[in-house]
Amino acid sequence: MAIGLDREMLDMTLESITEFAHRNLPDGLLVELDERDEFPADVVRKMCSEELGIQLLFIAEEFNGMGGGTFDVYRVCERMAAIDLGVATAVLATFLGSDPITVGGSPDQQKCWMTRIADEGLLMAYGATEPEAGSDLGALKTTAEPVVENGSVVGYVLNGKKQWISNGGVADLYSILALAPGGPSWFVVERGAPGFSHGKPENKHGIRLSNTAPLYLDDVRVDPDRLLGGAEGLGLAQAQAVFGYTRLMVAAFGLGGGWAAVDRALPYSAERIQAGGPLSEKQGYTLKLIVPHVVRLEAARSYIEETAERIDAGEGTLNTEGAIAKYLASEAGNAAAEAAIQALGGYGYTHEYMVEKIKRDVRITTIYEGTSEIMEMTIARDRWQSHIKTRGDHYHEQARALEVLHARRPDVGAGTAALAHHALAEVMERCREGRLTRNQHVLFRLGELIAHAECAASLARRAARAADGALPPKTDRRFDAAGLAVLGRVFAREAAMKVASDGLRWVLGAEDGGMPATGAATLEAALGLPAIHAAQAGLLNDMERCADMLYGRAG
Ligand SMILES: Cc1cc2nc3c(=O)[nH]c(=O)nc-3n(C[C@H](O)[C@H](O)[C@H](O)COP(=O)(O)OP(=O)(O)OC[C@H]3O[C@@H](n4cnc5c(N)ncnc54)[C@H](O)[C@@H]3O)c2cc1C
Repeated sequence: MAIGLDREMLDMTLESITEFAHRNLPDGLLVELDERDEFPADVVRKMCSEELGIQLLFIAEEFNGMGGGTFDVYRVCERMAAIDLGVATAVLATFLGSDPITVGGSPDQQKCWMTRIADEGLLMAYGATEPEAGSDLGALKTTAEPVVENGSVVGYVLNGKKQWISNGGVADLYSILALAPGGPSWFVVERGAPGFSHGKPENKHGIRLSNTAPLYLDDVRVDPDRLLGGAEGLGLAQAQAVFGYTRLMVAAFGLGGGWAAVDRALPYSAERIQAGGPLSEKQGYTLKLIVPHVVRLEAARSYIEETAERIDAGEGTLNTEGAIAKYLASEAGNAAAEAAIQALGGYGYTHEYMVEKIKRDVRITTIYEGTSEIMEMTIARDRWQSHIKTRGDHYHEQARALEVLHARRPDVGAGTAALAHHALAEVMERCREGRLTRNQHVLFRLGELIAHAECAASLARRAARAADGALPPKTDRRFDAAGLAVLGRVFAREAAMKVASDGLRWVLGAEDGGMPATGAATLEAALGLPAIHAAQAGLLNDMERCADMLYGRAG
């Protein structure tokens, strides 16, 4: 059975969002609200009312929602982020805040809260982070003390402080992670509960249209039915259970923010005349400021789409895949927005042209829902296990599958992606032999290399599927099959070069006394450097093709 909305319904939803934004959030207003550091409460409430009903997307049909799947949520998050990442964050906070209910709540709890969110458009906040518990949620200090009467628990008393909570000052309903005697547990707390208050909104670098505030819990008494799942100690597992999905949402934010910036740089550069012609015709401009960013964004999109499809197909929580998608998409979104400021020159540096706001906004995506460094660690640790379990064959095996794809579709970059995978397997094996991952930096850099190699494979597969006419119906259709093949070739070259040269650098760099010259030469040979170098031939032509596609020029 197909999960989620059908394509027509998804398209209609996306159109309604765009149309709503045209009416309610024009650029001029976004700039003003950003300058005034103001949360547009009325607009966000309208989005969650009958007028748009965006919250219905992630609520199951049995609770009066639309029952959207992961793929739908990715497409909607991307569209929202392209409008304004602060407003998107306010909406995401309700998605996130209700996740502990969806994942851990009893049938009664789910029915009660999810139906209310659907019908009443309640805004939620997700209260996990604390002043001393950020990346390390295990350091949680907020407590939930059971109130015991006649031998049974008749309630809990919550005490503590939460920090950086999106919608913190404006939500109707909060999910709060607190330490009960049985371990970290989620509780539902309503706005206005005695002893529950929030601080002033933070004055932030970006996403200034979102409300981020600390929460104070001072002897807040809740009934026992507010403990999600009805048992203590399930909180961290419940949070973990949706990481794949929630990280995909933030990945979609990176993608949407990055593309929003590129979509402003493209028309600007087609019109801006310098040195006798439009900037869009200057190779030193397009191949630095536009093309590489589009390629990286689309590589990340491929990974997001594959992961969303797999989650919707019931393949599990896919936390590592969610981490790879978030890492690549958020870093690509940031780089794209930074380049867009440069692409607009002096105008890019002003508020009016929006790209500097987009840059400030998209910056958050490498921080919240797990920082980029935590993503690198998550990715590397998981794939390290695969490397060990397969005695070093994990990425060689993936490479062989890519070689088969290359034999069938030689134009999608699969052959070069295979080289990246073989090189990655060799780098990881040298790390194992030398016990180099005892250096945290080496472990984290492996996370980066793994993300690049896997995204190169994903983009090659997406290009091949496009050529086969087998992309999922709800895929983004900005590029056709020939276009995706070009992008696939460019990104595969980048990934292969990165894996080989950075891999060599960190393996050699981690050796204290220096690797014997023979060792270095053996490693260079094992990495397949000559083949990776040879595969770079044609890179500039492909990048030019990409520029031609983006500017609608006949290639
Ligand atoms: C605008 C905004 C909105 C937010 N919304 C929410 C929300 O709605 N709900 C919520 O619960 N939280 C929210 N957060 C919190 C966010 O998830 C955390 O800020 C984030 O997880 C990082 O935690 P931290 O800020 O404590 O940084 P830290 O964990 O202290 O990290 C600081 C730096 O150290 C690095 N680092 C951390 N641990 C390690 C390690 N073991 N090894 C190496 N490097 C490490 C990090 O990558 C980072 O670069 C929000 C934050 C912001 C800024």
